[in-house]
Amino acid sequence: MQYRNIVILTGAGISAESGVATFRDNGGLWESHRIEEVATPEAFAADPILVHNFYNMRRAQLPTVQPNDAHKALARLERELNGKCTIITQNVDNLHERAGSESVIHMHGELSKIRCEACKSIHLWEIDCLTETPCPNCEQAALRPHIVWFGEMPFYMDDIYGLLRSCDVFISVGTSGNVYPAAGFVSEVRRLGNAHTVEVNLEPSEGTSLFAECRHGKAGDLLPKLVDEILRLN
Ligand code: NAD
Repeated sequence: MQYRNIVILTGAGISAESGVATFRDNGGLWESHRIEEVATPEAFAADPILVHNFYNMRRAQLPTVQPNDAHKALARLERELNGKCTIITQNVDNLHERAGSESVIHMHGELSKIRCEACKSIHLWEIDCLTETPCPNCEQAALRPHIVWFGEMPFYMDDIYGLLRSCDVFISVGTSGNVYPAAGFVSEVRRLGNAHTVEVNLEPSEGTSLFAECRHGKAGDLLPKLVDEILRLN
């Protein structure tokens, strides 16, 4: 089967082999923190110093980790496919871009950006951000990580549902199927069209039974093979 319009949903599992911690694999902890402590608007309101420090550490980790074979395989797929290939990622790291992928939608935001709550401007950001750091645009000390926290609306949802509607294969990689709305995308694909659906994950995810095809194991082993198969037919 030739595919001309591929949508790939990625989650924390695709970056695990690069040394970036997932949180479902650590009993609901993300780098030793409970999610409610660092990834909700309420947590930021209660303790902005702790939350800024948490994301400062995650941002500082980025230059120390490298894209792995799974990120590289997806970049090759985009480069060599005779068609359209879009990554929708729940990840806030920049490993897809650093592997060479260009069509990447960060539905949960990006560590390498910061946003001003006062003037709404968004800035590329590589250094630490503190509660007193002034916004480069309006100079108010109202910066927050450009991250979608639990309880907030993910970005680009209209674009994403358009992509789910029009794809001819939907591949989910390294995501536990616990975090909505991403966990519901496979059902949307099935409801909206006839696309083939594939899960690539270390273990069966919560939504594994919703996929037509499942491949379980490490993304760094499985994705290069899957990409070879798709490109051979293309
Ligand atoms: P998750 O942590 O809930 O689940 C990760 C899944 O990946 C698990 O099912 C696990 O079995 C699988 N996995 C682990 N290692 C793997 C490997 N080598 N190959 C294939 N699969 C592997 O992640 P999620 O579903 O993406 O939800 C977590 C949320 O936390 C996301 O919204 C994301 O924003 C955030 N988060 C992001 C990062 C990141 O940017 N790298 C890291 C941690 C958490």
